[in-house]
Amino acid sequence: MKNLIFLVFRGILFFMPVSNFFAQAIPHCGNSPEWEAELSDPVQQARRQVMEAAIAEAMQRDDAITSRSPIVIPVVVHVVWRDPEENIDDARIWSQIERLNLDFNAENEDIDQVPDEFKPFVGNPGIRFCLAAEDPAGNPTNGIVRVQTTERGIAMKRDNLFYSDRGGSNAWDPTRYLNIWTGDNFTPNGISVTGYAYSPWTETPERSGIVISLDFFGINDSRLGMGRLAVHEVGHYLGLRHIWGDNSPPTCNDDDGISDTPNQFFYNFNCPSYPQHSCDGTSNMFMNYMDYVYDRCMMMFTKEQTQLMNAVLALYRPGLLNTTIPCVQKPERVFADAFTVYPNPARRAIYLNFAEQVAEPGEILLYNINGRVVFREFFILRNGMEVMLHDLIPGMYFLRIGESMRKLIVHP
Ligand code: ZN
Ligand code: CA
Repeated sequence: MKNLIFLVFRGILFFMPVSNFFAQAIPHCGNSPEWEAELSDPVQQARRQVMEAAIAEAMQRDDAITSRSPIVIPVVVHVVWRDPEENIDDARIWSQIERLNLDFNAENEDIDQVPDEFKPFVGNPGIRFCLAAEDPAGNPTNGIVRVQTTERGIAMKRDNLFYSDRGGSNAWDPTRYLNIWTGDNFTPNGISVTGYAYSPWTETPERSGIVISLDFFGINDSRLGMGRLAVHEVGHYLGLRHIWGDNSPPTCNDDDGISDTPNQFFYNFNCPSYPQHSCDGTSNMFMNYMDYVYDRCMMMFTKEQTQLMNAVLALYRPGLLNTTIPCVQKPERVFADAFTVYPNPARRAIYLNFAEQVAEPGEILLYNINGRVVFREFFILRNGMEVMLHDLIPGMYFLRIGESMRKLIVHP
């Protein structure tokens, strides 16, 4: 474990297409190099093999996994901040929980964008998440721990982040809570990972959970933007591997151990057009959460990934299944009656401002003066967001969000 950070950086330098690296930096999770470290550690490798065999057996039985009551995993979010702006608000944390809930229940607004070829394989993990309303000592809480630190780049400092006495924040009992840490990922040489997770066979109890760099946590301004890095990392936490397999250098001879994800030579990034081919011409399922594409371009788990995650929960994280920890109730939406549109009159695009800080999925509808819907789309609602007005006939319209309506004039 001592050499892990070194391995992460070395691994990433080694791993990334150089031409792309300096232009784009990241979006890279720290689990590939960790996988390499596992491969060279006989103890971890042996553990992994035993656990994978048990998981495979459980997946064969299947009934043990599918016949269970709805799962709601209690979450604690550790915000470890140095500068005040790193101490993010509750709305951003809620936006992260919301994203996990959408994607882990196949309720995501973009699931219909999965290409027809892969639609039959779309799985629904059926796992929900909530902020824990009770801490390990039984006291009421909002499920958010805020810790000020003097450490810069705390998210990447694994020997600090997980320890309250070294500028981080101690895990809550990992058998009963999913711990999510977020913090700044500044590194002096400008190279860092976006996040990482510990799979059941690599973790030590005090490091059980996932870590998301602040820039990529919840709704955010990065290219990832939608909070799906956490979806990817929870995938690792529940036993999933990268969809292309993690051999380095990449080959077609490795895979992710999942039969309904096609073999893939290497990862995809940015937002590729469909289809992308590799490995004897197979079509890459790059829109899978376990690839490396932008958030807006990923939208599915497969059925077998879903089975595996549920098997891992049942076998290795059973305390999360049989929890009695209550959930914090999500605060009421506050934005519906308080948004403004500008410019108005508008031409090609409008911008929306909300009186309250929001960052959550919502539907925007535009009606013409006859009351007919001419535009209807899901967005992540946030201050200053842009909405393009494509092909609208000049005239008067009504813009609706939630229960609230605004008149909008469109100019030629
Ligand atoms: Zn990953
Ligand atoms: Ca596969």
